[in-house]
Amino acid sequence: MDYSAFDFIPLPVLVIDENYQVIFLNRKAKETYGDREGKCYEITHSFSQPCYTMENCPCPVKSIEEKGLESYHAVHVHRMAGREAYFYVVAGCIPESKTYIELHIDLSHLLTALEGSRLSSQLLVSEGPIVFFFWDNSPGWPVKLVSPNVKDLTGYTVEEFLRGDITYADMVHRDDLERVAREVKTYTEGGAPSWTHEDYRIVTKDGKVKWVLDHTTVVKNDQGEVIGYYGYVMDITEKHEKEEIIRNLSDASPVGIFLRQGKKLLYVNQALAEITGYSSEELIELDDVLNIIHPKDRKMVRNVMLKRDAGIKGVERYEVRIKRKDGKIRWVQISSETIFYKGSPAGIGVMVDITERKIAEKKLRRLIMYDGLTQIYNRYALEEFLSRELVKAERYKLPFGIVFFDIDDFKRINDTYGHKMGDMVLKRLARLVKGNIRKADIFGRWGGEEFLIILPQLEDPAAFAEKIRKMVESTVFDKGIKVTISLGVTTYREGDTVDTILRRVDAGLYRAKREGKNRYYVV
Ligand code: GH3
Ligand code: MG
Ligand code: MG
Repeated sequence: MDYSAFDFIPLPVLVIDENYQVIFLNRKAKETYGDREGKCYEITHSFSQPCYTMENCPCPVKSIEEKGLESYHAVHVHRMAGREAYFYVVAGCIPESKTYIELHIDLSHLLTALEGSRLSSQLLVSEGPIVFFFWDNSPGWPVKLVSPNVKDLTGYTVEEFLRGDITYADMVHRDDLERVAREVKTYTEGGAPSWTHEDYRIVTKDGKVKWVLDHTTVVKNDQGEVIGYYGYVMDITEKHEKEEIIRNLSDASPVGIFLRQGKKLLYVNQALAEITGYSSEELIELDDVLNIIHPKDRKMVRNVMLKRDAGIKGVERYEVRIKRKDGKIRWVQISSETIFYKGSPAGIGVMVDITERKIAEKKLRRLIMYDGLTQIYNRYALEEFLSRELVKAERYKLPFGIVFFDIDDFKRINDTYGHKMGDMVLKRLARLVKGNIRKADIFGRWGGEEFLIILPQLEDPAAFAEKIRKMVESTVFDKGIKVTISLGVTTYREGDTVDTILRRVDAGLYRAKREGKNRYYVV
C-alpha cells in the first residue's frame, strides 16, 4: 500500500500494523521523531517498556483492538529531538488490512503548564462558544493554556496569551476586575473546588466590551498547593444586554415589579420599594413576604401564592392592603402570573398603589348613598336597602318593619323662621332619630321633610312609632322651635315588593295626618 500521500499532511502521521510495528512515517513524523524504524513506542515514546504492555496505558492500537473501537484519541508524552512533549493522538483502524493510522497533534507549546495538574487536555480541541482557559496562579493570571476559539471571544490569539503579550487580568474590564479578583480569593480561601463568577465584562483586542460567564475550577498539585485555575468562559453579551434592557425598563417603571419564590422576594424594582416604603435590599431580606400584607388580606394573597407555587398558570388581579414600613396602610392592586424560575414555579407580578382611587371611590360612594344636608342615607340608598331587605325576608322568612314619617306643618317653620332655620331643624331631627335607633336599623331621608326607617327586627311597631313621636314632640330646637311628626308603620307581608310596602306605609302616614297629625297609624 502506498502511504506517500500522507507526506502532504503537516502533522506527524504513523501507520502501524497489528504487531505495533511502524510501517510508515510521513515526512513530518520523521522530522519530529527522527528517521527511525521500529515499534511505535520505540519511535515516539519515552517509556522504558512498551506502552501496550503497561496497565491502563492509553495505547491507541491496544485500545482499538481490545475495545473494538473504530477510533481512539488520547494525550501522550512523546520523545522528540532532545525533549519530551505532549501530543494529542488521534488513531483510526483500517480493518481490512489490520493497520492503524495515527495522527499526532503537537500540544507541547501549550501544555507545559499542565505538568503536575490533573487537567484533561482533550478539552483543548474545543470549538464553539465555550473557551477553555488555564490560568497560572500568579499576579495578573497569565494564561498558560487556552483553546483556539479564544480569538473569536477576545480578538487575541493563543500565541499572544502564551507569549504573555496580554494576561487575563489585562483583559477584564477595569470596573469588574476588583470584584472578580475578590471572588477568586474568597472561593479559593474558602476551599471551594469550583464556582461560577457573577457575570463580568472583558474588553476585546479591538476595544469592544463583552459580558462573559466564567466557571472556574481550582487546580492543585500533589502537595495540595493551588497552581492555577482552569475555566470555561462563555460570551453572554447578547443575553446580558437583553437582561439589561429589561432591568432598565423595570427600574424606570412607575409600577412596582416583583419576582417571588416561596416566602422570599427574589427581585424587586425601585417603584416597589417606593410603594412599600422599604428599600429594595430590605424587601429582598424579608423572611416572609406576607409580613407586608395587611393581616385581613393575607388569606387572599396566600391563596394566590399557593396557586403560583403549584405551577398553575393564569393571571390573577386582586386588591389588598399593605402595611408600609412606616406603618401606614395603603391599598394596592396586584396582578400576578406563574413563571418558572431556575426550574421551580415562582410568581411574577406588578403592584400599583390605588389608595387615592380607593379614597375617591369611598367619596363617590358617600355622594351616591348619602343625603348632603342631613348626612343620613338618601332615597337611592333607602330603595337599595329596602329591596335587599325584601330578598332576605323572602329567602329566610325574616320579617322586618318600616316607619315612614313626615314633619307636621313644616311649611310654617320655613315661613316663620326662614329656610335656613328649616334646614337646621331637618339636620337636628335627623341626628336625633339616628341617635335613638339601633345600629342595624337603616335610617334615611326620603325627600323634603319625609324620612324612612327600615327595622330588620321590629317586635312592637306601635311602641316604636310612639317612642319616636314622643321624642320629637318633646325636643326643643334652636329659638325654641318645636315640631311634631306623623308616622305610618307597617311590617313585611309575603309577596311584598318595594312598591307595595311603600304604598302601604304611605297610606298609614296619610291616615295619621288626616286623623289630626302628631300620631302614628299601623297598617
Ligand atoms: P303637612 O303637615 O301636611 O306635612 O304640612 P307641610 O307644610 O309639612 O307639608 P308640605 O308638603 O305642604 O310642605 C313641606 C315643606 O317642606 C315645603 C318645603 O318648603 C319644605 N321643605 C322641603 N325640603 C326642604 C329643605 O330641604 N329645607 C327646608 N328648609 N325646607 C324644605
Ligand atoms: Mg309635612
Ligand atoms: Mg311632606
